[in-house]
Amino acid sequence: MSKRMATQAPEATYRIDVAEAVRLIDEFMPTYGSQPVSLEDAAGCILRQTVTAERDQPPYDRVTMDGIAIDSAALAEGLREFTLAGNQAAGQAALRLPATNACIEIMTGAVLPIGTDTVIPVERIEHQADRVKLEAGYEAVPGQFIHARGSDHAKGLPLLDPGVRIRAPEMAILTAAGSATVTVAAWPKLAVISTGDELVEVGKPLEAHQIRSSNDHAIKAALRARGFQHCIRAHLPDEPQRLIQRIGELHEETDVLILSGGVSMGKYDYVPGVLEKLGVQLVFHKVLQRPGLPMWFGISQSGKPVFALPGNPVSTLVCVIRYVLPALLQAMGLRAEAVEHVVLGDAVEFKPDLSWFLPVKLDSGAGNPGAALPRPTNTSGDFISLGDSDGFVELQRGQDRYAAGLYVPFYRW
Ligand code: AMP
Ligand code: MG
Repeated sequence: MSKRMATQAPEATYRIDVAEAVRLIDEFMPTYGSQPVSLEDAAGCILRQTVTAERDQPPYDRVTMDGIAIDSAALAEGLREFTLAGNQAAGQAALRLPATNACIEIMTGAVLPIGTDTVIPVERIEHQADRVKLEAGYEAVPGQFIHARGSDHAKGLPLLDPGVRIRAPEMAILTAAGSATVTVAAWPKLAVISTGDELVEVGKPLEAHQIRSSNDHAIKAALRARGFQHCIRAHLPDEPQRLIQRIGELHEETDVLILSGGVSMGKYDYVPGVLEKLGVQLVFHKVLQRPGLPMWFGISQSGKPVFALPGNPVSTLVCVIRYVLPALLQAMGLRAEAVEHVVLGDAVEFKPDLSWFLPVKLDSGAGNPGAALPRPTNTSGDFISLGDSDGFVELQRGQDRYAAGLYVPFYRW
């Protein structure tokens, strides 16, 4: 259910700021549900439950070196030679030290034997039959090389909070918590729709006046990279009847529509009219930004968001990364995190009174690590030059010079 009921007609807004567009999208986005998945399938998902520790972590005093375990009282008495009383491997129940002058051979990961409190690494000892001698001059510190029970985390305390993305560390933590099933955010079903009579699918022959439809594949790649799998891809001509029929069907079949093309002022830009005919209420049209000024956002009568993005490939991608992905992930309960910032590597100038999404390459050299080097495109149609960029920075409108060294928000492709 969206935060605002779909029956309440949104007051359409035109030519708004980037921040206002983000705010309005957030206001109208629904909240997606949760589902249980097996631990095996949880990687990349957004956690929707608290995970508490099943046991102390580590669950026992864990030996961190191969060698021998002794009672440090023996060291205090000046003892440097021990009788070997047993062998304690990882996965075996704890042995008991029979006497202070004895030692137990231990392996990394083993439970510390009862009656011992100090580990001497194998490199510091010498075996002579059933006797073990410490290296001459070696001073052991009592308590050394033991990862104490509960020293990382105590049983019952929260290990993970709802809203985290399950990456490799979270997966290890979930496993240690003993969760065979995990409650995660359900993935919304998406439709990615390209519109345009000039577009031709890969594999089909194309004429001199036609182009490949790349936006839908590019959008899908961006979605995939964030974990979205349920995604129907469609290509529709600039024909109002056909648009109404197929967009209507896709709206029924999915949770979110992401369209590209047909939202500008051209004679064949039918998308806004078609969406309104389908009962999708306009929330805003046009954002004071470049690229992507003609962006259109609305909400259907059943509360489903509809993102209609301008078709120029740089505009489409920038809008997907800046608006669509964060909105979807937030609606799935992803914990809000501070936007990544980078340092602008070179001064740039931009006269129009618009926010500028400037593609950049992050300097990976030693000289200026992490600096964002501008990679301006040759118009918003030039997606080829995006291949030499890592993402884009957002330069706020209201000024026309942006100095090198400026700290700016950065969005990765
Ligand atoms: P439009 O927003 O429909 O006016 O399209 C603007 C420009 O983007 C035109 O040059 C289109 O050919 C191009 N374009 C639109 N859709 C796509 C697409 N799916 N793939 C590549 N280019 C596109
Ligand atoms: Mg078009």
